[in-house]
Amino acid sequence: MKTTTNKGHLICLGIESTAHTFGAAVVSSKKEILSDVRDMYTSETGIIPVEAARHHEKLQRQMIQEAIQKSGQKKIDLVAFSQSPGLPPCLKVGMLAAKEIAKELNVPIIGVNHIVAHLISGHLFTQAKNPVYVFCSGANTQIIALEGGYFRIFGETLDSGLGNSLDKFGRGIGLGFPAGPKIEALAEKGKFIELPYVVKGMDLSFAGIVTSAVDKFKKGAKEEDLCFSMQETLFSMLTEVTERALAHTGKKEAVLIGGVAANKRLCAMLDVMCKQRGAKFFQVPLKYCGDQGVMIAYQGILEHLAGKQDSINKIDINPYQRVDEIKVFW
Ligand code: ATP
Repeated sequence: MKTTTNKGHLICLGIESTAHTFGAAVVSSKKEILSDVRDMYTSETGIIPVEAARHHEKLQRQMIQEAIQKSGQKKIDLVAFSQSPGLPPCLKVGMLAAKEIAKELNVPIIGVNHIVAHLISGHLFTQAKNPVYVFCSGANTQIIALEGGYFRIFGETLDSGLGNSLDKFGRGIGLGFPAGPKIEALAEKGKFIELPYVVKGMDLSFAGIVTSAVDKFKKGAKEEDLCFSMQETLFSMLTEVTERALAHTGKKEAVLIGGVAANKRLCAMLDVMCKQRGAKFFQVPLKYCGDQGVMIAYQGILEHLAGKQDSINKIDINPYQRVDEIKVFW
């Protein structure tokens, strides 16, 4: 089994399987996206890890073949997969699929951290060079910056992520799932109602605000006013912590990553704050904000080119690895 490549122009197959999405994509070291195949497990009740893993298991072989075929490449040089963090049964399917195809193609395998890949997608898709990363997906909300060779988490949610908090509020007032886009639309006609504002040090807490907003709805507050007020309150909290991270690090860029980046009001708030500080605001295109294999392939290329070598026999999943444990060597 090969463990290295000739390090010239590299073509990497990336496999993503941390949670609901199975993704396979082929990317080149020149940042060309040659294919991007994805399929998402859905359920009425939220994600059931073994069911999601079954979904991935069923589709992985055909999706990997499709990604390779659509890329038009005769030769794949490297296979990267999401090694951490994520739901163990789902991670395992991705790893076994990666091992199988790496053996078949006789190429090196490399395991990457899924959150790192999301952050680095800020460099793949925008001009940001050394930003504060504002990562806001369903379950995650973290304000991160690279300092001293590590991704330092400056602030994060103490309970659920921003997206899930909006969804929970939406569920509470009968908007259905996912509520984020509906809240954004309703907010356009709303007026401000005061809600708790909870920034603790550099951390954020959303749960109590959701409870308070749902409670106000039950007592007769209008849904559009609550949607407007939720956005203004939650996004101001996030903008405040991002501004403090910019001030502390002296960085001049912020990049927004994750599905909540779809929200125009959030982008506008961060943009205004950045402009007022002489900083630049970037946003990863929505198509690549969610889980996909493209970012995994690109991260695999960076780490491989920087000399990382994983053993196909020893490599395993690492479901609980935090982003701040990883030394940035690429
Ligand atoms: P995770 O990877 O953290 O488990 P996820 O993959 O479900 O979560 P994403 O796809 O990055 O997360 O983002 C989904 C979230 O983005 C949902 O909570 C959804 O409500 C939110 N969202 C989508 N569009 C908007 C919008 N226009 N305004 C606010 N939130 C939005």
